[in-house]
Amino acid sequence: MTRQTTVMRICISCRKTFDRNHLIKITKDHKQGILFQKGMGRSAYICKAKKCYSDSKIKKKLQKALKTFLDPEFIDIFEKEITSYNDYPNKGI
Ligand SMILES: [Zn+2]
Repeated sequence: MTRQTTVMRICISCRKTFDRNHLIKITKDHKQGILFQKGMGRSAYICKAKKCYSDSKIKKKLQKALKTFLDPEFIDIFEKEITSYNDYPNKGI
């Protein structure tokens, strides 16, 4: 018997609840620092809506959610990561 549960998480930007599979997970890993979609540690979730990840306050929100300081370069990496996830076809978010 398979147990299938939908894990719901809140986007830190728009505060809407989504199926975790539709969100990008950003984790502050204890050893490796900030990771996308993997890692162990404090995590924040953000949806794939452009207005969320390109929000000018997103870095602040992430820093607060992850309780860490993010490098200025982080936001470039973050945008690259998140737009690459957006490349999946026919996701009309
Ligand atoms: Zn959002």
